Amino acid sequence: MRIAIRAQRLAESSTLAAAARARALRAEGRPVVSLTAGEPDFTTPENIVEAAIAGLRAGLTHYAPTAGTPEAREAIAAKLRRENGLDCDASGVTVTVGAKHALHLALECLIEPGDEVLLPTPAWVSYDPLIRLAGGTVVEVPGDPASGYLVTASELEEAITAKTRLLVLNSPANPTGTMHSPEAIREIAAMLGDHPQIAVVSDEIYEKLVYPEIDPNASFLSIGSCPEVAERTITVNGMSKAFAMTGWRIGYAAAAGEGLEVIRAMIRLQGQMTNAIPTFLMPAIVEALERSSDAVESMRRAFARRAAIVADGLAAIPDLDAPSPTSAFYAFVDLRRICGRTSPGGRGIDGGDAFAEALLEEALVGVVSGTDFGGPGRTAARLSFACSDEDLAEAFDRLGRFVSSLR
Ligand code: PMP
Repeated sequence: MRIAIRAQRLAESSTLAAAARARALRAEGRPVVSLTAGEPDFTTPENIVEAAIAGLRAGLTHYAPTAGTPEAREAIAAKLRRENGLDCDASGVTVTVGAKHALHLALECLIEPGDEVLLPTPAWVSYDPLIRLAGGTVVEVPGDPASGYLVTASELEEAITAKTRLLVLNSPANPTGTMHSPEAIREIAAMLGDHPQIAVVSDEIYEKLVYPEIDPNASFLSIGSCPEVAERTITVNGMSKAFAMTGWRIGYAAAAGEGLEVIRAMIRLQGQMTNAIPTFLMPAIVEALERSSDAVESMRRAFARRAAIVADGLAAIPDLDAPSPTSAFYAFVDLRRICGRTSPGGRGIDGGDAFAEALLEEALVGVVSGTDFGGPGRTAARLSFACSDEDLAEAFDRLGRFVSSLR
């Protein structure tokens, strides 16, 4: 059968593939420590689980309205007003099959073929394929390792052309573990004030995982709260990371004012694609957003502790550079200083791909090559600290020995 070109062009998600390789080696009995996870190692807080079970028992087993139940949409809108300063109500919210689905819907509804989409890189691996699937042209705006891989408003503005229609923003960021300051977000919004044709998709999935313990100035601001872009920002978020609910597949998108038109289009598309998420999960959304802040805070504190282990571990390996992770659960390691060296097993380290392979095969530590994150990622690797403190300590021990064994 003929496979459509748009499907032929789709690559496998490299982060999922890296995790699978580490798992496969472990299944062969080799003691691999994996720093590849893109999900919290915690289980979902009990009250949220109970809310879903109660929903099932109460007979919430029929289709829900495509965009979610009124209660779930209102809980999300209230959260966005209260915590994020967005001026949105329940009609401007749709509940989706994970944030990934929300992003896919938003990109399909905002991009015409040939439109240019600004993508600061390194960027999470799914943005590029999803933008291309919608017919958009990805315009990478590479971040400098020395500035925490964060691009400035003026760097973004330099990449704008008459064809630019969208900016995809992800702060706190996967894969870098760094985030824009509120000031930097305000500068980006102010710059976009001069470019009214550009919409913003703001992926805020890591907003709760911020570590003032690492940088006292680390603090989160939703770009949708900035007046210049308040009505042209689609805010995307979900339950996966903050509430340890990756397997539940619950995300959402929201917009205010004129942005409501985009949400309505997304709901029309969603109605044809997937309809609503499982109905008995709707009460769990309310439970998570309204009655789970202690559980979220205790997971955040654990991640902050691990971020400190990672920052110390990296500082002890002078040949590896990485900005201290101030958010999310990743560190993005610049490998340029070890490129050109050879591993004890004879692998030439010329970038992230060779490094990740050699580290896994020879030192039994799984990491994700930076290549598919774009921009400076080709000579970088992503380390996840969504794992136990013991695993992290062991991984850094092996990593340090591996790096010093390179010749
Ligand atoms: N955005 C980013 C930046 C992510 O890292 C991820 C998960 N890896 C997602 C979106 C997708 O999350 P979800 O599980 O809600 O689909």
